Amino acid sequence: MSMSRRDFLKGAGTGAVVATAVGVDTAPVEGAARELKTKGAREVPSLCYYCAVGCGIVASVADGKVVAIQGDPEHPINRGALCSKAQAYIQVLDHPKRLTKVLYRPPGATEWQEKPLDWAMDQIAQRIKATRDATFRETEDGVTVNRAEGIAALGSAVITNEECYLLAKAMRGLGVVWLEHQARV
Ligand code: SF4
Repeated sequence: MSMSRRDFLKGAGTGAVVATAVGVDTAPVEGAARELKTKGAREVPSLCYYCAVGCGIVASVADGKVVAIQGDPEHPINRGALCSKAQAYIQVLDHPKRLTKVLYRPPGATEWQEKPLDWAMDQIAQRIKATRDATFRETEDGVTVNRAEGIAALGSAVITNEECYLLAKAMRGLGVVWLEHQARV
């Protein structure tokens, strides 16, 4: 029996590999399984951007939506495997509870308010400037340090490596020294 690594991993989920090896006709089983999610879907190779490992994924796309995500068995880094974060990747793209609007809860309030994105950006910029102005330390024990000690930055695992790089650059430019990443918390 000739079978590629990719065919093997595809079939493993349904037990089709074992069944085929012992001479059982697996076509009906494979057909039913595929219909669950990926019938008629187009397979698009891509990358998981959650961390710097850079695992390969295959996204199944139907009617313009990603309907399933699996590890790319032909990718040299992960060889078909995905960690738990990437297993839940599809929820980032399409989940009924995904937030698509800015929500703001003023100090002391119990309810969230919808706000325009431009308003939120202005608020963030104003508050960063006010905090930096109020807490910036230029020297310590006679040594120039130029630290914005009242601000900390926490990188997220759902921003890309490039975004992490830009975030770190921006924070260093402001004098922020408390830089962390979700993956280390
Ligand atoms: S988050 Fe997981 S699947 Fe994604 S690149 Fe990192 S190790 Fe790979």
